[in-house]
Amino acid sequence: MSFNQPGNYEIYALKYAEKQLDACQFFYRNPSHEKVTLYFYIWCILGGPFPILVDTGFCYEDAQVREISNYVNPTSLLSKIGVDALEVSLVLITHLHWDHWGGYSLFPRATFWVQREEVAFFTGPIARYEPYQRVTNPATLAELVKLNYGGRIFMVEGDRQVIPGIRVYWVGGHTAGTQIVTVQTARGNVVLASDASHFYRNIERRDPVQIITHLPQMLMAFEKIEELAGSKELIVAGHDPQVVTRFQPLEEGIIKIA
Ligand SMILES: [Zn+2]
Repeated sequence: MSFNQPGNYEIYALKYAEKQLDACQFFYRNPSHEKVTLYFYIWCILGGPFPILVDTGFCYEDAQVREISNYVNPTSLLSKIGVDALEVSLVLITHLHWDHWGGYSLFPRATFWVQREEVAFFTGPIARYEPYQRVTNPATLAELVKLNYGGRIFMVEGDRQVIPGIRVYWVGGHTAGTQIVTVQTARGNVVLASDASHFYRNIERRDPVQIITHLPQMLMAFEKIEELAGSKELIVAGHDPQVVTRFQPLEEGIIKIA
């Protein structure tokens, strides 16, 4: 693999599943029963010394119990862009919800970067309460503790460079330790917002979601994303089907961001 100068990274969004919800189940205090479709993505950054993944996606078992449609194993999309999941060495975890962490086992050689506050939250006193259990896969969080003892969890506190040109930033809000990722590309600084902005509607209308740990932090995260992005066109929302139309679809499930 060629090693470019920082600033020339390529980013791919890999769309591996879908789910339909009512708007009232999703947006903050929204009474509408209008249907919204969530797309599920992982993101892959190429052009450095090794591929860097953002989030793991989830496994087939979660797809079955959570009424997911059009699921494909995220690793099959990765292989189409030339990345072998078995060789992936670094995954940046934006947060520990089931759809972002549930697929850790697909990457058996990876080290996972996650905010310290996120681990503390989901392994701490709140874990016994149903509203937060509903958004996690508990078995995979138990495994996270074991992986940490095996040296495969790296806990980040706040903001940190990953490699030159790639950084993570704590924003919180959606979860206690949600982090976003910035990547220097030929088009400018891209922000992989993940669930700091599930949809473009969230950030563009300052319209938060209802699955949160801290509403003011979620609102301030929108400001942080805009501050860090080279332009508004370089913000990548976490679950929005519009990612496919705002960026460059290459083939089914593979969208080139930059
Ligand atoms: Zn999500």
